[in-house]
Amino acid sequence: MTAETPDVAPLDRFECRACGYIYEPAKGDENRSIPPGTAFADLPLNWRCPVCSAPKKQFSNIGPVGSPSGFKENLNYGFGVNRLTPGQKNILIFGGLALAVLFLLSFYNVR
Ligand SMILES: [Zn+2]
Repeated sequence: MTAETPDVAPLDRFECRACGYIYEPAKGDENRSIPPGTAFADLPLNWRCPVCSAPKKQFSNIGPVGSPSGFKENLNYGFGVNRLTPGQKNILIFGGLALAVLFLLSFYNVR
């Protein structure tokens, strides 16, 4: 009955969209006396990115350690590909093919 029951800790990591710094709750932020285990939501409101000083609202939830990288973020952001129209996707695809062909042609020309 004395077995440790860890508190339900939201261990979601948050990534700074400005510089890519990732806040990991398991590590905390020793530079600002944030003890390990501090959830991002529990950080002081005036906490800022230790790298670029971006405010908390510049961070996006990228899920806990071990989850597919950027899974939650991809639902909203991704690389923008999911929001392209089919026509725009075709331009990307054929543009890529054209570049590949040009690359191959130049490769053979060099030889
Ligand atoms: Zn930052």
